[in-house]
Amino acid sequence: MENGSMDLVLFGPPAAGKGTQGSRLSETFGTPSISTGQLLRAEMKAGTSLGKKLEEYMYSGGLVPNDLVTSLLTKRLDEPDALNGAIFDGYPRTYEQAYILDALLYLRDRSTKKVIVIEVPDEELIKRVTGRRMDANTGVVYHLEYNLPPPGAELIQRPDDTEEIMVRRLEAYKTKTTPTLPYYEEKNLVARIDGVEL
Ligand code: ADP
Repeated sequence: MENGSMDLVLFGPPAAGKGTQGSRLSETFGTPSISTGQLLRAEMKAGTSLGKKLEEYMYSGGLVPNDLVTSLLTKRLDEPDALNGAIFDGYPRTYEQAYILDALLYLRDRSTKKVIVIEVPDEELIKRVTGRRMDANTGVVYHLEYNLPPPGAELIQRPDDTEEIMVRRLEAYKTKTTPTLPYYEEKNLVARIDGVEL
C-alpha cells in the first residue's frame, strides 16, 4: 500500500530554474527539495575522499557515476524531513537513475507523482549561467544583469558555470536526460512548463 506521499521530479536543463522552483514547491508541499548537485557540492566542500573523486566529473560537466550519487541520495531520503515526500532537483538524469529512484521510492511505499519539465531555450541558459553569481556568505544566487547582487556582496562563481563547461552540461542533458522522459510519459506523469515566463 502506498503511503500517499508527495514525490515530485523536476526536469530541466542546467540553469532552467530548478533550484528556484524547487524551493517554491517545497514551501507549497512542506517537503524538502533535494538537489543532487548540492549534495555533491557539499561533499566536495567537506573535503572527504568521496569529495575528491567528484571533482573530476563535476568540473568537466560530465555526470558523476551512479554508485556515488545513489549513496548520497539514499542517505538524504532517509532524513526525517523527507519521510512524506520530496522534490527531486537534478535527479534522475539518466534512464538508469529513473529506475533507481523508482526502486528507492517503492521500497518506502512511495512513487513519483509528477515530473515537471522546465523548458528554456539554449541561448537564454548560457546567458543565465555565465552571469550567475552566489553570495559566499548567504548562499543567495544573483545574476549580474537580471538580478543584481547588493553592493559589497562577496560573490563567487561556480567553477562549472563557464560557457565551455555549460556546453557540455547541456549536451549531457540532451543526450542522457531528455531520453528518460518517455519512461515517465508512458505513465502519464509529465507536465511541461515555460521556464522563461515563470
Ligand atoms: P545544473 O542542473 O545547473 O547542471 P546541478 O547542481 O544539478 O547543476 O549539477 C552540477 C553537476 O553535478 C552536474 O554537472 C553533474 O556533474 C553532477 N550531478 C548532479 N546531479 C547528478 C546526478 N543525478 N547524476 C550524476 N551527476 C550529477
